[in-house]
Amino acid sequence: MKKKLLATCLFFASNLGNSCFSQQLNSSTLQEVHPVCATQAPGEDWENWFQTKINEFKNSQLTKSNQASSLLYIPVVVHVIYKNGEASGSGSNLKAAQVQAQIDALNDAMAGNAPGNSSLPAVFANVDAGETNIRFCLASKDKNGNTLSEAGIDRINWGNKGWSDPSTLGNNTTSYFDNTIKPNSIWDPTKYFNIWVADFLDANGAGLIGYATFPAGSGLSGMSGLGTGSSSTDGVVMASRCFGCKAKFSNGYYSQNAYAYGITTVHEVGHWLGLRHISGDGQCGNDYCSDTPPQKGGNNGCSNGLNWGCPGYPFQANQCSGNSNGEMFQNFMDYSDDQCRSLYTANQKTRMQTALNNGTYRTPLLNSTVCNTIDLDKIEQNTSILVYPNPTQHEITIQFDHALPNNNIHLKLTDMLGRTVKNEQVNVQGTLLHFTLNDLPVGMYYLNINDGFKNIKNLVVVKQ
Ligand SMILES: [Zn+2]
Repeated sequence: MKKKLLATCLFFASNLGNSCFSQQLNSSTLQEVHPVCATQAPGEDWENWFQTKINEFKNSQLTKSNQASSLLYIPVVVHVIYKNGEASGSGSNLKAAQVQAQIDALNDAMAGNAPGNSSLPAVFANVDAGETNIRFCLASKDKNGNTLSEAGIDRINWGNKGWSDPSTLGNNTTSYFDNTIKPNSIWDPTKYFNIWVADFLDANGAGLIGYATFPAGSGLSGMSGLGTGSSSTDGVVMASRCFGCKAKFSNGYYSQNAYAYGITTVHEVGHWLGLRHISGDGQCGNDYCSDTPPQKGGNNGCSNGLNWGCPGYPFQANQCSGNSNGEMFQNFMDYSDDQCRSLYTANQKTRMQTALNNGTYRTPLLNSTVCNTIDLDKIEQNTSILVYPNPTQHEITIQFDHALPNNNIHLKLTDMLGRTVKNEQVNVQGTLLHFTLNDLPVGMYYLNINDGFKNIKNLVVVKQ
């Protein structure tokens, strides 16, 4: 079942000019054009590394009984790249509401609430991930720590930067982004998930609508790092015409109706979190998720095992070994129309969670505070109580340096959005208190300790 995985949709874009791209050449309007994602999937070395991390992640979850109850938040900055003369909110200088609509659509997908999810065929609903526990928030602070006037938005006039017009880059679009635009505009990828949105077209007029970097990991280098992001390139690039969600904000810049509902970004974020195309980039290929059936694809002339348009269910059953229920064209990692796709599977959720817990530019994001409006510097620095180890995997010890006035201690743990995740009244014998945290997801929390004298706040980091 294992196949060479270097065949990717980037290759797809450049090698298959007579199949997928012919659709574009025959088209007279953008609405009829089929999309191409240019994400370069990494090779087998990367997959071997990732499979090791998946197994480690699964084992670690066995000790975390409360995993499903808390959400992981990823701060986002959207670099809105526009041309001279486009005022804020006009044309490809997207309105803030269009950006917000995209984040909302993305979060709906992550919550298992994408439109259409509730009406999936039963055989696919059975493997639906549902709630992935992953959410995205627009950053409230810029790279210098200043409050952003528009949450999560960095507007860039490409002319002022001396950059080429993105709409003229053709087949050089991805290389120009990776070598020029990204390195000169990226915000610290350990604090922000960077998304660039620009009005680009491919050499044939339209097909490229987005691409992502896969998660980089420590110990990976050379060929095994192919397709993964670096400190100057990590993130997702999206065509402005396919960013946002028409159903949530209709007065936006949309020109490709089939991809105007935010699912292309959901697809690219899937790559960014370690997901391959559902086809494994080949007919009956392997995407390393056993709950996504192998598929032959080819709907509307698409290639590499993927589907365009919106087939009817069941579609192409038994065309590959092991797909007696037909193809899962409803999966976000196919190429079907936005309104046709509505699920990640449970195996895909595991891959995404694994990426968040291991990626060089993924795990630190869980501790990033740039979405918060709370000023961490103003949190009272406490000297009379020690909290260790911090970060921690399993528990923290709270050590009081004074005789307690009474032994009734109130401990309250809240996540970065202020939601209470633990709230306990405990009796302390002596000056040491052990507080178990191994039922919490990786992330940063505020620990409120009330010892009867005063209320003291500490930051606590739970690591894998
Ligand atoms: Zn893709």
